[in-house]
Amino acid sequence: MELESILLPGVDSKRPLIIAGPCSAESEEQVLTTARQLAKMGVKIFRAGIWKPRTKPGGFEGVGVIGLPWLKRVKEETGMYTAVEVATERHVFEALKHGVDMLWIGARTTANPFAMQEIADALKGVDIPVLIKNPVNPDLELWIGGIERIYNAGIHRIGAIHRGFSSYDKKLYRNMPAWHIPIELRRRLPNLPIICDPSHIGGKRELIAPLSQQAMDLGFDGLIIESHCNPDCAWSDKAQQVTPDVLELILETLVVRDTTQPTESLTSLRHQIDELDDQLLELLAKRMRVSKEIAEFKKANNMPVLQTGRYDEIFTKRIKQGSELGMSEEFLKVMLEAIHEESVRTQLELINK
Ligand code: PEP
Ligand code: MN
Repeated sequence: MELESILLPGVDSKRPLIIAGPCSAESEEQVLTTARQLAKMGVKIFRAGIWKPRTKPGGFEGVGVIGLPWLKRVKEETGMYTAVEVATERHVFEALKHGVDMLWIGARTTANPFAMQEIADALKGVDIPVLIKNPVNPDLELWIGGIERIYNAGIHRIGAIHRGFSSYDKKLYRNMPAWHIPIELRRRLPNLPIICDPSHIGGKRELIAPLSQQAMDLGFDGLIIESHCNPDCAWSDKAQQVTPDVLELILETLVVRDTTQPTESLTSLRHQIDELDDQLLELLAKRMRVSKEIAEFKKANNMPVLQTGRYDEIFTKRIKQGSELGMSEEFLKVMLEAIHEESVRTQLELINK
């Protein structure tokens, strides 16, 4: 793929490229107030969702085309570039007609090759930068396939956005980062700029700063962060939006090191450990939940909590399995006992309630 390295003229190629703005455009007032504050702090690209893909009908589905002239005003007044999400051919035409400078494709859309092809066809002969979010499911090939469809339409200013992957179990993150997937994307398409979306990964304001730092440490090129003049009153994604002031603080505290670390480096290895620890904790929590379900069952059927036969079976089997994987018996014993103890504790708690 021959990609152009500059997505928009005049936007610094120095890391990180920043895109900021509200999840959704809600009113002309909200859009302009937010945009003015962001422009003042030096943000060059303003995002705002005009059409919002909602999980269920009845949610706020975006203001639609009436919001596009607001973005035009943002451009005229602040000089910022504007970016919107497109999911259909009509979105593309409307956005282009209103002079939007950059398009992004949402995670639900990237997951659908028909929709991606429709957008790609609508973009033939158009010269505009397009950012492609990862699909909701952790499927690198589907992500690359979407990127290829847009590239084959003649678009050579392309970037990828890593926004995490949805999973059945809700935990620390709204969407699990699975950093190895964007890292593998970088290996496969080394010239493709990759932008991290800590707002949608974290789903919470507090997670924006640490996730942004992690993205910088892993060599990402930019950040797309949801920022709203009054986040608590936002019509969508309010828990993960920050005011422009808070965003400025987050960006000021970011440490951006010049050189990106090779995968083998210490930083990267430490991130792998962090991610594995996350997974370990999530798995343990899941195990505890299942154990609680077992307790419900035991309670309903008047069975004792501790069933020694079962415990011995787990213990012997797992110690053998763990030893074969290279771990010491002592360690396995301590670990399994601790897990079992906590599991019994939660079961007793539930049964005695
Ligand atoms: C968004 O950027 O507001 C959005 C809907 O994101 P995603 O497609 O990542 O869910
Ligand atoms: Mn959002």
